[in-house]
Amino acid sequence: MSKIDWITQEIAGLKEAGLYNTIRTLSSPQGAWLVVDGKKVLNFCSNNYLGLANHPRIVAAAKDAADKYGVGPGAVRSIAGTMDLHLELEKRLAAFKGVEAAITFQSGFNANLATIPALVGKEDVIFSDRLNHASIIDGCRLSGGKIIAYEHNSPESLEEAIKANLSQYRRALIVTDGVFSMDGDIAPLDKIYEVAKKYDILLMVDDAHGEGVIGKGGRGIVDHFGLHGKVDVEVGTLSKAFGVMGGVVAGDKAIVEWLRQRGRPFLFSSALTAPDTAACLAAVDLLEESTELVDKLWSNSNYFKAEMKQLGFDTGVSQTPITPVMLGEAPLAQQFSRELYAEGVFGMAIGYPTVPQGKARIRVMISAAHSTEDLDQGLEAFAKVGKRLGVIQ
Ligand SMILES: *Cc1c(COP(=O)(O)O)cnc(C)c1O
Repeated sequence: MSKIDWITQEIAGLKEAGLYNTIRTLSSPQGAWLVVDGKKVLNFCSNNYLGLANHPRIVAAAKDAADKYGVGPGAVRSIAGTMDLHLELEKRLAAFKGVEAAITFQSGFNANLATIPALVGKEDVIFSDRLNHASIIDGCRLSGGKIIAYEHNSPESLEEAIKANLSQYRRALIVTDGVFSMDGDIAPLDKIYEVAKKYDILLMVDDAHGEGVIGKGGRGIVDHFGLHGKVDVEVGTLSKAFGVMGGVVAGDKAIVEWLRQRGRPFLFSSALTAPDTAACLAAVDLLEESTELVDKLWSNSNYFKAEMKQLGFDTGVSQTPITPVMLGEAPLAQQFSRELYAEGVFGMAIGYPTVPQGKARIRVMISAAHSTEDLDQGLEAFAKVGKRLGVIQ
């Protein structure tokens, strides 16, 4: 027996269960179409909601920044890695979100790892939605606080958990995804806020799939519910609708100041690169100038969802452009994905542990970059494969 036999066995088990991840290699930019292994395919996989990942103005901003600032940030932000570009981006993001201050990180994942342990210690309790993103869960674990999961999107379950536990701890935090990435449903943040207010508990939302998508001109979930000034911490990513890379925490200026002192990924991992930062600034410019891309995203996703329902597919409970096509068992979802791919459509099968057992699906990610013809081509492929596999009539 070698020391790594158990790993080989685990991998074989994943393959048998239809849960092994086969990762495709792209040789083109992100957009409506991709070149994957030399083949042109329709892209239904990326979080590039607004098509900004290869937008000419954003690419130009990155190039200009590379000419002026070079590439690497040189150090962690607190030593010699903060450039004027970083501060400008933070100011612009705070204004975009309508909050006092913002701080950027290398990714949304890091933003959660920085924020939760800075706000919560081992004498404290975290009330966390049962379906929260892995980076929230890891941030909670790193904090050392007691983690109590409440039922998904249930303010009633949250309140019960608070009543039963709050008095045993020093302080508390409520944390939820804004838009849940696997189902596309929106957290009832207005009702969650009422609970947070009633018990005077800090409220944090991770709006990675809401920014650039919901709210006025893509201002996110706080704007969507008209909760300005009421949610203490808004975490976000610059890698989805913003089309680039990076994470952000927006909110009260004392919290942001605290994260500059105590956010470990801020203190111990180097800053976003100058080209990334300039590209994010150009994305904010585009979002502030016009709602055209956000409007296009919504008209595309409304069209696609309605046509999929017409065909007889179950698209779950989504309220956003995330369109899960529910298939049940993981091997069926994997076969569906392979056959779509043979038809020229790149749609990812998602199974356990990313979603619960028996809830495997193809998750279609609609983008403003898709044309109506693109969507029609995708619908045709879904209809063909769906009939062949007996998913629809
Ligand atoms: C994608 C996602 C993240 C991670 O963002 P990155 O910038 O890709 O690290 C964090 N939280 C949620 C809810 C997400 O969907």
